[in-house]
Amino acid sequence: GKVLVSGANGYIAVWVVRTLLEEGFSVRGAVRSAEKGKHLSELFAPYGDKFELAIVPDITAPGAFDEAVQGVDAIEHTASPFHFQADDPAELLEPAIKGTVGILESARKYGKDVKRVVVTSSCAAVMNISTEPQVLSELDWNDQAVKEVEERGRAASAGAKYRTSKTLAERAAWDFVKTHKAEIGWDLSVLNPPLVLGPILHAIASPTALNTSTRMMYDAFTTPDGAAGGGCWIDVRDLALAHVRALQRAAAGGERIIIAVGAFAWQDWLDAAPAGSKYQKGTPGAGKDAVHLLRYKNEKSVRVLGMEYRSMADTAKAVVEDWEARGW
Ligand code: NDP
Repeated sequence: GKVLVSGANGYIAVWVVRTLLEEGFSVRGAVRSAEKGKHLSELFAPYGDKFELAIVPDITAPGAFDEAVQGVDAIEHTASPFHFQADDPAELLEPAIKGTVGILESARKYGKDVKRVVVTSSCAAVMNISTEPQVLSELDWNDQAVKEVEERGRAASAGAKYRTSKTLAERAAWDFVKTHKAEIGWDLSVLNPPLVLGPILHAIASPTALNTSTRMMYDAFTTPDGAAGGGCWIDVRDLALAHVRALQRAAAGGERIIIAVGAFAWQDWLDAAPAGSKYQKGTPGAGKDAVHLLRYKNEKSVRVLGMEYRSMADTAKAVVEDWEARGW
């Protein structure tokens, strides 16, 4: 079958496209401009006409995806801004929500062959900040960030603005399928990853152009005191496989699925890097004492998608080798 991938030039999406192609799917990758598609055409040239581009200049425009959804059997919607630079929360909320509802609306109207839509949500739509340790599951929703943005607007924290965009976009997706159940021939599957780390495939000239999550890892390895703090993570290659399995497995329909390995302190990554790598070592072992207040259950991903997760050592090796090969 043929799969439409939105935001195809993004960090995660390039891996999703590649994994789909490896698994035998054809892919239509939607990007904002022909320029942004150039690298993809080169990268996926070995797959011949199994990869094609669609140009969607503005995902917030009504009917933006009307053409792109025609003739595809499934959709992977990944396009959404992920950064902590927004002043007005609308900078994040508008493309996140309108992009999501818009692609679903196009699928409803013109996606007559579409059987499944996978939306890349986030643990940002699951998490809550607490001083108590918590283990969250697919039943949890981040109403905390939404409330903060409602109350504080531009003065809300950068994290809350991003997390609100993901929470409201995901809610809007579930609401859409509920409202239009009788008119659509497809179902929805939502994937919720925490911080996504791993080697990069997409075109970037320097570390400053890295996407938000891999930039955080690069900073941890290269800036003074960069290894403070931590979070929860998933390898981008495992997440890409989850996107493919979410299409292949009937049981993923109607499900919200956390795709996460575990918690980390950045120091753990420095410790996991291959011996002899050129990056800073921090304070080896110090990550073992870190308190992880937030963790996610991943049993559902194992049960429904058959996920088996890569180890930190595997991911660290791939990342460090990738950076070194780029001369960074
Ligand atoms: P990238 O920044 O690498 O990719 C984002 C993609 O979305 C790009 O294709 C980008 O297009 C597109 N996009 C962003 N804003 C807009 C907009 N206003 N209009 C149209 N397209 C837009 O990020 P990631 O690959 O990390 O993120 C992909 C998805 O995964 C997002 O939905 C993100 O929320 C989610 N996610 C990411 C995590 C992570 O740790 N990386 C964790 C959890 C979820 P362009 O290049 O043209 O700007």
